[in-house]
Amino acid sequence: MATTTSYNPYTGETLNSYKNHTKTEVSEIINKADKRFYSWRETSFSTRKKLMLSAAAELKKNKKEYAEMITQEMGKPISQAVAEVEKCALACEYYAENAEKQLQNEIIKTDAFKSYVSYEPIGVVLAVMPWNYPFWQVFRFAAPALMAGNIGVLKHASNVFGCALNIEKVFKRAGFPDNCFSTLLIKSDSVETVIENDKVKAVTLTGSGPAGSSVAAIAGKNIKKSVLELGGSNALVVLKDCDMEQTIKTCVQARFQNTGQSCIAGKRLIIDASISEEFIEKMLIQVRELKSGDPTNDKTFIGVMAREDLAKDLEKQVNASIKAGANLRIGGKRQGAYFEPTILTGVTSSMPVFKEETFGPALAVTTFKTVEEAIELSNLSKFGLGVSIFTKNIEAAEKLALQFDEGAVFINELVKSDPRLPFGGIKESGYGRELSEHGIREFVNRKTVFIN
Ligand code: NDP
Repeated sequence: MATTTSYNPYTGETLNSYKNHTKTEVSEIINKADKRFYSWRETSFSTRKKLMLSAAAELKKNKKEYAEMITQEMGKPISQAVAEVEKCALACEYYAENAEKQLQNEIIKTDAFKSYVSYEPIGVVLAVMPWNYPFWQVFRFAAPALMAGNIGVLKHASNVFGCALNIEKVFKRAGFPDNCFSTLLIKSDSVETVIENDKVKAVTLTGSGPAGSSVAAIAGKNIKKSVLELGGSNALVVLKDCDMEQTIKTCVQARFQNTGQSCIAGKRLIIDASISEEFIEKMLIQVRELKSGDPTNDKTFIGVMAREDLAKDLEKQVNASIKAGANLRIGGKRQGAYFEPTILTGVTSSMPVFKEETFGPALAVTTFKTVEEAIELSNLSKFGLGVSIFTKNIEAAEKLALQFDEGAVFINELVKSDPRLPFGGIKESGYGRELSEHGIREFVNRKTVFIN
């Protein structure tokens, strides 16, 4: 019988062994989900709203319990895990309050007596999700999907099956009807049969490029809608007129929170050469002060990475970049799944830490002489999730914003997700949008109704 074992990446101990769902069990779960759809789609927005608010309340009430599982399974410092669970509650509240308005009929004046677009649920949607924000990534899909009248089926990353089952528990405890949201305990090689299942209408994936490309290809072959939220290599573009103290603080947060394992982390610091040395010296002071250690300690800011193999990948990228001429200013060492907060200066566009996504606590620093050069460096990335620009000249920054090939431009702020704003990328960062009214409209049938 196939099982999936989860490990605590900090202690190395085995946490649990989950029996994988068999093919028959998977199709039973999907059948039940599909059956539920026909009654769920008939429920009113006020019924769904009540349930979604109850899910938010459940998350807040038991945030410690849920956060502890996150910390155990992927090493996130507990204070950040609690914050993640609280943010999920916010997303539930946001969609509870706004879904009805976002999906109301849109009247369009034509030569008809009346014509409009109605936004209708499509059925069972599969979510293939990653471990880095094991609650948030799922809730930002599930809250809009369920409020729209869809049904969610989750294939979570293999190292966070405990979180997956806990998320199912949140909806159960909140009082959602059975099978509105279910978890498939399966390996990634079983995803194809799930997408191929006639009862599954669409798929959303957050994760790496190869996983996204595979899932999108299968969805395409089966003519099913997909949304992809893939990697990123966001630049932190620092102009010489920035507020240096504030910018350093924001950049440290942008790169090192969640132990650097975020698609929207600021991975490449692209900074005006005339201020770079002073900036880096001051930044080093702050990075030295970041508290690494036991993720269950609420003072810890840098935990371990989620898996040792991921830390080894980062080590390779850092070492290859040093070999190619980058200067190691701090960090660079790995111990098991722990990777020291690292800063490399003198990074060029041909080095791995610039060209590839670095999914851990390592910052690549490149300098520029002109703003045009900064934009060009930022745009050289194959990814296009977001960019931050730091300057006191907001008017000029807003004009510059147009020149970045990105899904988001944040001025004097790190790129972050907010339920009220659309989230997603271009280029190899994927397509489609999550969150806001754009997110809830991804998995609906925009039906044209024409009355003569
Ligand atoms: P993956 O992309 O492999 O995993 C993400 C999810 O996709 C998991 O549920 C995984 O399942 C599933 N998956 C993987 N391959 C396939 C496939 N061929 N078909 C269907 N589903 C698949 O991420 P990793 O954990 O391997 O991390 C590798 C890198 O991916 C990171 O270093 C980072 O660069 C990027 N990443 C980006 C994230 C983001 O937020 N955009 C999040 C996580 C990773 P299973 O766990 O069973 O393999």
